[in-house]
Amino acid sequence: MTGIAPHKALGCCRGCDSEALHVLHEFGVAPIADRLLDPAGTTEDLSAPLTLVLCTDCGLTQIRETVEPRYLFHEDYPYYSSVSKALMAHFHASADTLVETLELGEDSLVVEAASNDGYMLRRFKDAGIPVLGIDPSDGPVKAAQLRGIDTIHGFFNLDRACALASEGKKADLFLANNVLAHVADTHDFVAGIAEILAEDGVAVIEFPYLTDLVDHCAFDTIYHQHLLYLSLTATAPLFERHGLFLNDAERLKVHGGSVRITVSRTARTTPRLEALLADEARRRVKEPVFYTPLLERMEELRHDFRVMLDAYRSRGQKIVGYGAAAKATTLLHHFGVTQDDLMFICDKSPWKQGLEMPGTRIPIVAPDALNGSEASAVVILAWNFANEIMAENADFASQGGEFVVPVPDFVITRGEYMRAAL
Ligand SMILES: [Zn+2]
Repeated sequence: MTGIAPHKALGCCRGCDSEALHVLHEFGVAPIADRLLDPAGTTEDLSAPLTLVLCTDCGLTQIRETVEPRYLFHEDYPYYSSVSKALMAHFHASADTLVETLELGEDSLVVEAASNDGYMLRRFKDAGIPVLGIDPSDGPVKAAQLRGIDTIHGFFNLDRACALASEGKKADLFLANNVLAHVADTHDFVAGIAEILAEDGVAVIEFPYLTDLVDHCAFDTIYHQHLLYLSLTATAPLFERHGLFLNDAERLKVHGGSVRITVSRTARTTPRLEALLADEARRRVKEPVFYTPLLERMEELRHDFRVMLDAYRSRGQKIVGYGAAAKATTLLHHFGVTQDDLMFICDKSPWKQGLEMPGTRIPIVAPDALNGSEASAVVILAWNFANEIMAENADFASQGGEFVVPVPDFVITRGEYMRAAL
């Protein structure tokens, strides 16, 4: 069963309410990413229009359509932050630095929105610092509570912040990693931060950085769940409306290029924040021209992909995919891939195996299906892990198979692809 997911199209900017929304790219009616389908047909295959727009007044890049959250975020989605060792090391190092620089102790309080299974808060707790997590996903919240990490099951917003503040719970440190761009009501979320922050408290927030998306051509990170694509230029006014100021920003390598901002009630800046803002101004991030290289590259890559599909098909050769992440949905949609093009998609996650991709209904299978299959090539949909995936499947190449890395450069290789890891 297919259908259009209930959604609303914006009439004005999510940040500044301006009606000056410039359409950067229309993806058309795109499947809802991460909504993997049961082959038995019990899950409705939902799509919705997906349009990338730029507010030419404040520079905020955003998705025009807001799909009802209950179709986007599953309570039972078994994503546990602690599973990724590299990410754990990243966040624990960040926690250790914050404990030291903010001189946090047993009288402090650290509050985290979207705290998941307590992957970061546990580091503060282990250092004897009181913590409070807030997260809407069932399983991870239970996992956090089992570890003794005080966690509220629900969303962080202004109402929640007011309730906590009225109990005397004010945050000396407020954390929000990879959640700011996902919330439909940005101002309600930021007003909540202003409410819960202690007078001299700081908020430390990470999100994917817009310039990395553009420079790495990571167009496949554009989907309905990601409502905002943030530059620092567009982020500053979101906070200033609530009496908060960007104090610092640091670029990070995680998630294909992210930025970590520090926010407080005091207006002050670091030289590195000023340098990043100056760089954004030089690159004209508030203007459509900034996006031209990305949009042109997207069309070139689609062309190269179609040529590749035709070439394999004309030789009677079969192709499969690798990596059924959310972003694969946008990639397959943009490239116009159908079930006829890819036999199946391999993914290591047992939770995904046996299900089908939204929209295309391409089956998801365990990676060992690759060996003994008739496939002549594997399209690496999780292209940011291309080297790792090729190394793990070296046998496939040694038996004559080819790997197709479709982004950020279109490459067909036997396994020697080495573009610097993103
Ligand atoms: Zn705006």
